[in-house]
Amino acid sequence: MPDPIALAVPFFFVLIGLELLWARRRGVRVYRFTDTLTDLSCGITSQVVLIFWAALQLAIYDAVYRHAHLVSLTPSWGRPWLPWVVAFIGVDLLYYWWHRLSHEVNFLWAAHVVHHQSEDYNLAVALRQAVLTSWTALPFYLPLAILGVPTLVFAVTHALSTLYQFWIHTQLVGKIRGPVDWIMNLPSHHRVHHAINPQYLDKNYGATLVVWDRLFGTYAEEVERPVYGITKPLASFDPMWAQVHYWLEMASMMRAARTPFEKLRVWFASPAWKPEGYVVETPPIRNRTKYDRPVSRKLATYVALQYVGVVGATFALLTWHHGLPRTVVIVGVAAVLGALVAIGALLEGRPWALRAELGRLALGGLALALVFSSGACRRDRHNVTMHTIAGESTILPARAVAPDAASDAASLTRSSMQVLDVDGRSRRYLLIEPRTLEPSIRYPVVLVLHGDGGDADGFHGGFPFEQASGADAILAYLDGIGSSWDLETTFENRDVKFAEAVFDELSRRFPVDRSRLFATGYSSGGFISNVIACQRHGLLRAIASNAGGAPYKQAQTWPNGYPKCPDQAPIAMLALHGEDDYGVTLSSGRFSAEYWAYVNGCKSDEMETTGYEPCHVYRGCPSGKAVGFCPIPGLGHWVWTRAAEATWSFFRTQ
Ligand SMILES: [Zn+2]
Repeated sequence: MPDPIALAVPFFFVLIGLELLWARRRGVRVYRFTDTLTDLSCGITSQVVLIFWAALQLAIYDAVYRHAHLVSLTPSWGRPWLPWVVAFIGVDLLYYWWHRLSHEVNFLWAAHVVHHQSEDYNLAVALRQAVLTSWTALPFYLPLAILGVPTLVFAVTHALSTLYQFWIHTQLVGKIRGPVDWIMNLPSHHRVHHAINPQYLDKNYGATLVVWDRLFGTYAEEVERPVYGITKPLASFDPMWAQVHYWLEMASMMRAARTPFEKLRVWFASPAWKPEGYVVETPPIRNRTKYDRPVSRKLATYVALQYVGVVGATFALLTWHHGLPRTVVIVGVAAVLGALVAIGALLEGRPWALRAELGRLALGGLALALVFSSGACRRDRHNVTMHTIAGESTILPARAVAPDAASDAASLTRSSMQVLDVDGRSRRYLLIEPRTLEPSIRYPVVLVLHGDGGDADGFHGGFPFEQASGADAILAYLDGIGSSWDLETTFENRDVKFAEAVFDELSRRFPVDRSRLFATGYSSGGFISNVIACQRHGLLRAIASNAGGAPYKQAQTWPNGYPKCPDQAPIAMLALHGEDDYGVTLSSGRFSAEYWAYVNGCKSDEMETTGYEPCHVYRGCPSGKAVGFCPIPGLGHWVWTRAAEATWSFFRTQ
């Protein structure tokens, strides 16, 4: 699933621009260059780090949901709105308690404090986020998994709650009166939350609703002008210092604490509490001067230009990290973080700023070099001549799915979750088998592979392949570990072994045609189909990859530099890809077709039409080793509505 927060990034910037203009027209100054950049740097830091653990966090929620849910609130229950309502109220209430404890308990505050460090209040402050709060919040949300809120419903509701909270970070919207003021969390309420005026401290914790504050006695009305920030100012533009300073403060409190009990108390006490004799100097609240440093116009221009590059790189990482090799992502994230530190140092006029700037430029250069050498952006396209063929295609004949395919599929097949031990790990897959097996038939098997963050059950809901294959095939929707696939391991890959084990198991239990095992997958599942085809020659007969790409970084290389697996052999392959796919780019899908056309020895410069308008197949491929590419107009990072039908048509002819 595309990250909704990443998709919203351009809108954030447009709205920040509008707020800036609106403030200027009203003659008020709500933004300072230095402070705003630090807000954005904190936001970028938290987002790029999330790349490494967002999937894991969702997998933890998902594991709890699967193994411990008490009620089943699946949308198919007859009341499709029910899980959404439970999720909305649940996320909001649990957010309230997480947020409240994040202000009342030191170690939670150490994570959350980042969001409160700005001494200004504007839309950019909304983006000032902490790296660790996604971890501190996760345990608070797990009751929803136990309550049976499905993972996807939770993830979407949580993302919408986060997006809602963006607009309330503004001074330009005054007090809104009426019933909405009683129910919804509004800018005026949240200004109070960000203020350090004594009567405003520890108030208004709500996310989208303010009713929890009214109910639990933490509501305060905005009366006097709020003073924003934290009681002991951060006084720094270094986004890394912003993330860690309170942890270090806690460490020094631990050192100052005299008894083991007091040391322990440092973790759980209120941030207002200090060990005996530990003094914190705090400037007065009223008439406080905000921390700032003069920045010359020249430096501001340089920093702003660099920042455009950093934002671009961040956006690219957030959107395309699924399709990039891990090393590229790691170096890319390091380059972004390095740039943020260097920019902070330049703004603060640190003596080491120039060295940091040069170091991070080198790191950025290395990241770019890795991207271009990884093949992720390969575009060595040949000029392809398209031939229109007369009559029906023998490789991809049109094969419309009957209008009642859904009910047919349901009556012809049955599904069950299966567990298999693979290398000491229990792996799950959803088996779709024909209700009656014809004794005279040996059945083909199709492995269906979900994308990152998904699972067998969920993907089956969105992509019911049996509506195309009916009772003619046995299907296995495999479940990835942590909702993902291992695309990196080139030898003894656990997911390749899993695919093999499922096929062996099915061959034992059913009359299977052992020469007709197919795999199709979406996004990361499309990539792993390619990896299985590459690493286990002779196992699969054909693959179809949706919104995926070719295998990268394998043990060997072909003479032209493409990655190669030991003993790799030609295999039939169909790549389907949305033209508007910004998750894994269209060029990545096109390259996967070019890749197999090369491996199979097809004519790379000649293609012909098929029974499916967007799809073309290469000419001159060996028999039964066809390669086709279907760029689908208007499709984003998802599976084409006719994908199952076209894929099954392709598999049958190979
Ligand atoms: Zn807060």
